[in-house]
Parts: sequence; C-alpha cells; structure tokens
Amino acid sequence: MALKTPEEFIESIRGRKLRIFMNGKRIEDILDHPITRTVVEANKASYAWALDPETKEIMSTISPLINEPINRYTHVCQSVEDLVAKANAGCFTAENLGTCIYRCVGLDTFHSLWSTTWEMDHKLGTSYFPRFLEYLKYVQKNDLAVAGALTEPRGPRDKKLLDWPDPYLSLKVVEKKSDGIVVRGCKINISGAYASHEVVVLPQMAHYPGEEDYAVAFAIPTDTEGLTYICQYTPYSAEREQAEDIYELGNPVFGERETSMIVFDNVFVPWERVFSCGEVEYAGKFVEKFARTHRMTCGGTCKVGFMNIIVGACKLLQEYKGLTKARHINDEILEMVVMKETARACGLAAANLGKEDPPGSGVFLPDEVMGNISKLNVCHYFWRVMELAGDIGGGLVVTMPSIRELKNPETKEYVKEYLSFGSSAGAEKIMRLTKLLQNWTAGLHGVGTYHGAGPIMAQKIMLGRAVTYDKEVALVKKILNIQD
Ligand SMILES: Cc1cc2nc3c(=O)[nH]c(=O)nc-3n(C[C@H](O)[C@H](O)[C@H](O)COP(=O)(O)OP(=O)(O)OC[C@H]3O[C@@H](n4cnc5c(N)ncnc54)[C@H](O)[C@@H]3O)c2cc1C
Repeated sequence: MALKTPEEFIESIRGRKLRIFMNGKRIEDILDHPITRTVVEANKASYAWALDPETKEIMSTISPLINEPINRYTHVCQSVEDLVAKANAGCFTAENLGTCIYRCVGLDTFHSLWSTTWEMDHKLGTSYFPRFLEYLKYVQKNDLAVAGALTEPRGPRDKKLLDWPDPYLSLKVVEKKSDGIVVRGCKINISGAYASHEVVVLPQMAHYPGEEDYAVAFAIPTDTEGLTYICQYTPYSAEREQAEDIYELGNPVFGERETSMIVFDNVFVPWERVFSCGEVEYAGKFVEKFARTHRMTCGGTCKVGFMNIIVGACKLLQEYKGLTKARHINDEILEMVVMKETARACGLAAANLGKEDPPGSGVFLPDEVMGNISKLNVCHYFWRVMELAGDIGGGLVVTMPSIRELKNPETKEYVKEYLSFGSSAGAEKIMRLTKLLQNWTAGLHGVGTYHGAGPIMAQKIMLGRAVTYDKEVALVKKILNIQD
C-alpha cells in the first residue's frame, strides 16, 4: 500500500544530511531539535490520520493514477467533490494542529503544475505534462510530504527584474546541461520544507521576454546538494527552546507556523524534474493557478479551523471567569462565529463553483472569485477575531507569569489563589488557556494569516482581473431600458 505509517514517515526523513541553521547555529538533526520537531510532528499527524478508521475518510482517497489509497495531500482534485473534500481537510488539519499542515503548499503547486503544463503542452507542443504525471505518481506511490516554494526576496519593486542590482534576487537558471539545469537564488518564508521529502519550486511572478532564465518550475528532494535552510527565529522560538516542558507553551506539540529561507547555491535539477524552463508567458499562469487553489484552503477553510480553536478557548474562559451571562461577551463570541462561518461558506463556495481548468485537462480548480474573496475576508476577519479574543482574555493574556510558578514553592500558593478567579477550574487550567490565547492573539498568527497565501493587494489584483461588471451593467441597462 502507498500509505506510510507515521513511524515509516519518521524513518523516511531520518538521517538526511540537511544544511540547516537556526539562530546562528547549525541544526544537526531536525528530529531532535525542539522547534523543527514541531514541523515533523505536524506532518506525521497527516500520516496517522490517513490510516485511522475515524479520520481516513478525510485524510485519504483512492488515486485514479495509481489505483491505490493515497493521502489527501498528494491527491490532485478531479471533481467538485474532491475540491469540497480538500476544503474540509484544510479546516480539519488546522483545528487539530493549531498550525500549518506543511503538505498543503506542495499539494497546491501540483494543481498549478497539472493545469499549466497540460495547457503548455497543448499550445506549445512541449512534453512537460507526462513528465509531471510521472512525478506525481512517484509522490503518491511513496506517500511523500512535499513543500512548495514560490516567494522570493526580490529587488526594488519600482524597477524591472532585469534592472535589479543582483540578478539572483529571483531564482535563475545559470546553466543548461545535457542532463539538467543548474539554478541559483533563494526562496523565502517557505513552510515546513526541511521536514518534507521534496520541494516544488514555481516562479514567484509573471515573466516577460528577456526573463526566460527566471521562468522555471521544478521539483527536487529536500536534501539535494547546494540547498541551505535558514530557519525563522522569533520570541516564540526562544520560548520553546528554553521551556522545561512543552506543557508550558501555547500550542504544546505542534507549535508555531515554521518557515525557512531556502538558498539554492548552484543546485542541479535533472531534466525529468523540470516542468518549465524558459516559457515566460506561462510563469504568471503558474502563480495564478497556484494562488487560486491555495486561497480556498490556506486563505479560507484552514483559518476556520484556527478560529474554531479561538472560539472554543473564549467560551471556556468565559465560563471559568463567571461571564456566561455577560451580553457583550456573548455578542463578541457570536461575531467570531459569524466571521468564521462566513469564511467557511466562501471556501466551500469556491470549491462548489470549481471547474475543470483547462477543459479536458482533468484537473479541477476552485472558483477564482470566491477563492480570492475567501482569503480577502479572512485577512480582515482574523485581526478582528484576535481583537475580540484579546478583550475576552483580559490583560492577563500578555501579563501572565510563567506556568512554572505553579512548581515554585515560594510563589505557587499565591499564583494558585490569585489566578484562579475563584473558579473551581483552578489556576492551572486558567493559565494554560490564557497561554493558548496569547499564542493566538499576541503572537505570530496575525501577520502570518494576513500574508500567508498573499496580502490583500494580491487578492484585489486577481479580483480586478476576474470581475468584469458586464453582467451588473447589463442588468441596470435592462431595468432602465437604456439602449447604447
Ligand atoms: C506563515 C507564512 C507561511 C508562508 N509559507 C509560504 C510557503 O510555504 N511557500 C511560499 O512560496 N510562500 C510562503 N509564504 C509567503 C507569502 O506568500 C508571502 O509572505 C506573501 O505573498 C507576501 O509577500 P512578502 O512576504 O514578500 O511581502 P511583500 O510582498 O513585501 O508585501 C509587503 C507589502 O508590500 C506590498 N507590495 C509588494 N510588492 C509590491 C509592488 N510591486 N507594488 C506595490 N505594492 C507591493 C504588498 O501588497 C504589501 O502591502 C508564507 C508566508 C507566511 C507569513
């Protein structure tokens, strides 16, 4: 069977020689490191869910390509039902992890690769699509975790790429050989790549004639020679590093959304792993089709899962604080529910209105307008949910002493007495709940949610192209009988 057990997943990523750094130090083994281990655990959960009788409906499906059960995170949608299942899986993983399912970006690059390489082959006579299908079968047969890398450092935004002072601020092909290409550059903010088997690279932006060396799409193993991972490091990283027990933390097992820069220092990619090289007019399509797929889940339904956690924490804290009858708190929680369910509705609408794109290609992509609206709404909603949860949590969300005080003989009785709010729940539960709310309202999730899958301007640009207003204008002309 293609599906790996969680233990097989761990063994499959053990012993790789990654060149990986965090906070100025090399990480010898990502399985042993307190921060990188959270990424491993999040991916590992997806392997367990695909085999668990209670969750396998959500996390697995049958592959029409290899006729075997595969993980949902290696399945390219081939119907509206698949898109709906993908949208629901995004919510499920987010609410159970409280962080990224790190196989998500890679899956969305597959949708873009399927659709775009199919179109390229039909219009240009290239043969990238069969190459991609072989790669996808390999991923499915070996149940691989795949990261996706588009975002680049970029040069001055007011200058064209070819006028940037450093030609490698966008990833560039530096050599073409008989057996493959050599690339140089960097991808930034890349989720969970070091705990994945493979990374798919797509262009970050549209390219134009003269920029052929930048129009490149490919996939490589994450331990390919020439790759260096430079991990994010935040106050939450420092907190996890110095924790005596993960029980002290706001999301104990799965932690924050962890990313890294990936530097490509003259990395060789064999031709069988190259899915575009020089086709400038398709670079923008790779990005658009990726964004369309990614915004339904990463922008839409996955954040519903996060908001479910926040709403649950607020309800519990409301009870522990004796605030169940406070009308404004009930209103605030209801406002959160309305926002999260609106986000879910937009994500599901994007799935339900999805279409085979291009017709005849076999791949289904979410509806462009609803996918972008889904993400755009979430950009606004998430800040508001953070604001409301911060109100309900009170100042303690940012002023609370360490949970370790509960073990300090000199302070524990004070803390137990004064941080229990007189509730039978006791100080320990209240402090842990407050810590969880700190993680969601005073940490990395606001900016993370806003920028992950692109900031508002990116959705507005896509909506500006997709919404023509022709129908609306025609309606008014009809009502008023205006003849042009
Ligand atoms: C938690 C997290 C996980 C992520 N995971 C991944 C991943 O796995 N893979 C991946 O590829 N990416 C990933 N990203 C990257 C994400 O897609 C980008 O952060 C996002 O697209 C914004 O790009 P940026 O960070 O470069 O911000 P910028 O582009 O610098 O945006 C900052 C501001 O500048 C504006 N701006 C930017 N360019 C222009 C311009 N030309 N003209 C006018 N205004 C402009 C933007 O609209 C915005 O207001 C992740 C990001 C986060 C936060």
